[in-house]
Amino acid sequence: MAISVIASGSLILATGGIFHLLENHRPLEDIDRKRHLKFDLAVVVVTSLMVAGITIMLIDGIVTQWLRDNVQLFDEAVTQPLWIRISLALVVGDLGYYVAHRMMHTPLLWRTHVFHHSIQEIYWFSGLRTSAMNSLIIRLPYLVAMCMFAIPASAIASIAVCLGMVNFWVHSNLDVSLGPLDYLFITPPFHRVHHSMAEVALDRNFGNILSCWDHLFGSAVKPSPALNSSEKGFEVESDQVARQLIGV
Ligand SMILES: [Zn+2]
Ligand SMILES: [Zn+2]
Repeated sequence: MAISVIASGSLILATGGIFHLLENHRPLEDIDRKRHLKFDLAVVVVTSLMVAGITIMLIDGIVTQWLRDNVQLFDEAVTQPLWIRISLALVVGDLGYYVAHRMMHTPLLWRTHVFHHSIQEIYWFSGLRTSAMNSLIIRLPYLVAMCMFAIPASAIASIAVCLGMVNFWVHSNLDVSLGPLDYLFITPPFHRVHHSMAEVALDRNFGNILSCWDHLFGSAVKPSPALNSSEKGFEVESDQVARQLIGV
């Protein structure tokens, strides 16, 4: 267990380093990564530990066992090759993420998510600024989908690491387009719109891996140079940090 945690951590750090270099090479906008560096580093340490703890708790605990007993699909679905089941689970889980993220933008759940939207300088690891409640809520749809398709715990752990890299990808300050695949997959410019304070961008571009949900359900806004450089986030009052970190 300890070795796999160290290996996962090293892989995530290496991936972050690659994004850092890519951002230097093809930045989407001029940002000052040092502007909130101390705050971001402190937050990243706390949230990384929270996210790792929540992930381990979800994967190893009674939550997963209960889900395996109650949501697993019929035999024909769970006897398909592993790569097919993982692909289907990611699609189903990503749809669940889209719904959960939209719900977090309603008054009922906004407190769980507001901390993430306080980010002002968006770059590869700034997306780790998230509350404990936010981390829990957005992981549940993927976990439920993994249990529906009987994905083994070892594969779920690897997928959790990959989802961490997706977080780096969507928040990276990277000028990149996938061409026609922009209508299928989230790109850094697409998610940057989600963080914009511009009126046209409010409550738009909710997806995590797949952008097709936003296009299907009418919540997609195309990235533009104006939106890339528009105002994002806000200063968090010092007496609000603890509450926003928990997400209550
Ligand atoms: Zn959001
Ligand atoms: Zn974000």
